[in-house]
Amino acid sequence: MDQQAAHEPAPTSPRRAIAVLTSGGDAQGMNAVVRAVVRTAIANGADVYAVYEGLQGLVDGGDRIRKFTWSSVGSILHLGGTVIGTARSKEFRTREGRLKAAKNMVDHGIDRIVVCGGDGSLSGTDLFRSEWSGLLAELVETGGITQEQADRHANLIIAGTVGSIDNDMVGTDMTVGADSALHRIIEAIDALGSTAASHQRSFVVEVMGRHCGYLALMSAIAGGADYALIPENPPPPGWEEDLCDLLRTGRAAGRRDSVVVVAEGACDRNGDPITSAMVRDLLEERLGEDVRVTILGHVQRGGTPSAYDRWMPTLVGYAAALEVLDAGEDHVPHVIGVRNNRIARTPLMEAVARTREIPTLISAGDYEGAMAARGSSFREMVRVFDGIAHAKPANPAEESARIAVLHAGGLAPGMNTAVRAAVRFGISRGHTMLGVRGSFQGLIDGKIEQLSWGDVEGWVAIGGAELGTSRHIPTIEQFYAVSRAIENNEIDALLIIGGHRAYEAAYQMLQQRDRYPGFNVPVICLPATIDNNLPGWEQSIGADTALNEIVYAVDRIKQSAMASRRAFVVEVMGRYCGYLAAVGGMSVGAERVYLHEEGVHLQDLIRDVTEMTTSFKHGRRFYLAIRNEEASVGYTTDFLCQLFDEESGHDFDVRPMVLGHLQQGGNPTPFDRVHATRLAAFSVDWLSSQIELGRSQWGFIGMQDGALASIPLKTMPDLVDMEYSRPLEQWWTEMRPVMDILATEPSGA
Ligand code: ADP
Repeated sequence: MDQQAAHEPAPTSPRRAIAVLTSGGDAQGMNAVVRAVVRTAIANGADVYAVYEGLQGLVDGGDRIRKFTWSSVGSILHLGGTVIGTARSKEFRTREGRLKAAKNMVDHGIDRIVVCGGDGSLSGTDLFRSEWSGLLAELVETGGITQEQADRHANLIIAGTVGSIDNDMVGTDMTVGADSALHRIIEAIDALGSTAASHQRSFVVEVMGRHCGYLALMSAIAGGADYALIPENPPPPGWEEDLCDLLRTGRAAGRRDSVVVVAEGACDRNGDPITSAMVRDLLEERLGEDVRVTILGHVQRGGTPSAYDRWMPTLVGYAAALEVLDAGEDHVPHVIGVRNNRIARTPLMEAVARTREIPTLISAGDYEGAMAARGSSFREMVRVFDGIAHAKPANPAEESARIAVLHAGGLAPGMNTAVRAAVRFGISRGHTMLGVRGSFQGLIDGKIEQLSWGDVEGWVAIGGAELGTSRHIPTIEQFYAVSRAIENNEIDALLIIGGHRAYEAAYQMLQQRDRYPGFNVPVICLPATIDNNLPGWEQSIGADTALNEIVYAVDRIKQSAMASRRAFVVEVMGRYCGYLAAVGGMSVGAERVYLHEEGVHLQDLIRDVTEMTTSFKHGRRFYLAIRNEEASVGYTTDFLCQLFDEESGHDFDVRPMVLGHLQQGGNPTPFDRVHATRLAAFSVDWLSSQIELGRSQWGFIGMQDGALASIPLKTMPDLVDMEYSRPLEQWWTEMRPVMDILATEPSGA
């Protein structure tokens, strides 16, 4: 996008005024939407008003409709909830209320709205839009506004963004707040897990979701729970005994704790509610266990937004603001959401209607229909969860295949989660699962052991790599030893979980494949690296955790720096891939990011220094630059700090902060756990089908036609810049202009 054009309104166009409001239930990340809308509007030469207390604020008018400036939305990205308030408004449901709202808007010259809320808020706003001309005509008639005002604001233009922790909206992969809610739930389940394990207790955890099982299902997967009860997929008759059996076998297989996750809207196949208290009573009665219920309630809405709930709503808010600013008279309102990390637009009332259809299907007992409406990945995750939650015997059928799992490359949080899922899913398919300790060298040295269902207990939540990983990959001279190890251990298939070094090793082995009989087995590479620099897959396992570590650290740095006047240059990992720097920068609202992909140039530095020193003179308290570790050979983090310090004129001081291995540590985030599980199950499925078909292809995980696929490994050089070990096309670079626009106040705004 042409950044210059974005900052300059067309000279002939009248000044546009846009309102932004948050409505309905609050959700973490709403502030990021507000910030993005406000700054995009200002950067495009429009006036922007924040409406306090949701749609009720439109009805009330007065100081509930406030003109915002660039700095009105400074330092709000990290705050939970919504700084402009939200409410449920009875008055807005009446025509009278909407008449007042229309007058208040016209009085402020506003005829465009970006609303962030659930299906109620979106449909209410759309009703307002459809009535707009009638409301204005009535206001003219009663003398509330002039005909000229009515003519000037003949149309109301709206765009919807979805703020809802439930992730219950059709038309977007994720709603604003859902990822943060998962963070809260997983924090709780992890904490309960340790106390439950100490006492061999069972916990029933109730999570939000009256009509949507997303939070329950994903938290059960990410939390390593035993059972999940969700509204769309009620358990079959006799579920009570199945559940007790499952917990008994889990205990026998080595579990010390049991966790059952219940969505608040869970029901049985007759549509009768299944409450957390009912599940507790059942387990106490039939298992004689000490069972505790934890109802998470509003904790799920609280706390600071996750990294995802900062960068995704920023993208969405930016796109929604442009949508209403650019709209013509015949504009059709849309919900602005995301599909595969890209902005996706769905006609607003279609999205609302399809969303509302699901509770109707559930009430009618059409669970097939409800599951289908949730989409294929949701259904897939139900299947995967079923596969890993049921403890299966450690000794599989005699004719089972032997699948080995190993790591290679740098450490990535989520590696353990992937191994656990592969082992349990593999066992559920009747395979013998082997863990290789110490990467390829361990394979050569025969450090291979059979892993049982119980051996990987607890691995879902822990960072690091229990099997060990290494950046050392086999040399050509070692290929013979690797091949012999595969043959000697009768390995039928290999799952390599790791980063660029893992992919490189597999690719080099593939080149020599004809020479080594041991290499005649199927191999799949699963992307796990915080650098997110692999072909085929857009968010490798570990990258989300690293982003959250960056956000966590920078939030604290920011707080400390606000007390004085300070600039920070924060160095992040990523090798030659700028993903962590760019998306991390967007998530924390950095003023500047330095990436290897773009290079660092003297003229940029001069511009940055000028901007920085001027803004500190005008009252800035904090300036944040994020530098990728390999952004430039000469312009190092220390160099940048010295340069900025030298030019600061004692108006501010400058500090470096190298985040280092903090980014690789930490327990995996819910996103990384869910995806590690999904990708591991896919890998086992794919390897199984290769074995069944007598094939031995080598591939890495990717997407084809919107579905998970194994991409032939031989295509790697066509997709990767081998010199800098990163994909030739990097999807996230599309976000770069958004960041630039939101980071710097246009002069004269
Ligand atoms: P959510 O937006 O989270 O779904 P609600 O369903 O409570 O939350 O809707 C939020 C607000 O949107 C309501 O309090 C009301 O002001 C407005 N609203 C919802 N539905 C309508 C409607 N059919 N007509 C007018 N306003 C509505």
